Amino acid sequence: MPHEKPTTPEALQAALAESELQAQTLRSELEETNRGVLALYAELDSQAEQLRGATELKSRFLAYMSHEFRTPINSIRSITRLLLDRVDGPLTEEQERQVTFIQQNATEFAEMVDDLLDLAKVEAGRVEISPAWFEMVDLFSALRGMFKPVLTNPDVNLVFEEPKDIPKLYTDDRKLSQILRNFISNALKFTPRGEVRVSAQLAGPGHVTFSVADTGIGIAADFHESIFEDFSQVQSPLQKRLRGTGLGLSLSKKLAQLLGGSVRLQSAPGKGSVFSVTLPVQWEGAPAE
Ligand code: ADP
Repeated sequence: MPHEKPTTPEALQAALAESELQAQTLRSELEETNRGVLALYAELDSQAEQLRGATELKSRFLAYMSHEFRTPINSIRSITRLLLDRVDGPLTEEQERQVTFIQQNATEFAEMVDDLLDLAKVEAGRVEISPAWFEMVDLFSALRGMFKPVLTNPDVNLVFEEPKDIPKLYTDDRKLSQILRNFISNALKFTPRGEVRVSAQLAGPGHVTFSVADTGIGIAADFHESIFEDFSQVQSPLQKRLRGTGLGLSLSKKLAQLLGGSVRLQSAPGKGSVFSVTLPVQWEGAPAE
């Protein structure tokens, strides 16, 4: 219905009074909404503060706990080593089997504690990057030496491709080595036969990509993102035997980000996997917040 225009002065006055009233109602509604929004902001702020506190507490707890666990685990490992080396006399076959079992479990526990401690440090922002100039060839040969004693499956070859045209890198070589060690040990775990190939290529201006390609069981596309989250594992018959912590890839992703880079996965079930990390040739310090 069209609004009738007031024609007499009285009607005009009445209409004016009505609009004034409406404007006043609107103003007070707006003020109320404003107060609501401010209260919401305050609530959000305090929740963010609580969340920060909880994260800090969790990281600190993880760091203390992992640290405290290290000493007893290391003594268990040392004692099992002494026993297996027959320092305290001979062992029966059954005793050797049992001590080996304790040793394997203690080693697995130690790895989990190390991963937890590293994750806690990353989350608390307490990881220091110590960059230095180094040659890829040296890193590859150190990795080759590290993996030699654990290559127990004769059906799998671990190949390090000779890095070609890769300049000297300026980054934290220990952190890069930690990422590659995670990729390689996973590849060896999930490859019953074939090969695990480690290589490095230049990737765009000022970046290098390191890849670890395996001919193993592969990973379905559904898991390609979640696999980089804490405690994430893909169920498979192999997985049941291997256990592991599900922390290695999450840690690798966070370390790569700290080094100014990123991780990537290409894989399909039955077709093997390629895990790669791309880093700047020269680390340029912490990214701007
Ligand atoms: P962990 O190896 O201790 O379980 P990770 O975070 O390193 O923890 O790996 C998480 C999971 O990702 C593994 O448990 C496995 O299910 C899957 N995965 C990792 N690397 C491979 C690979 N090369 N081939 C197949 N599956 C893999």
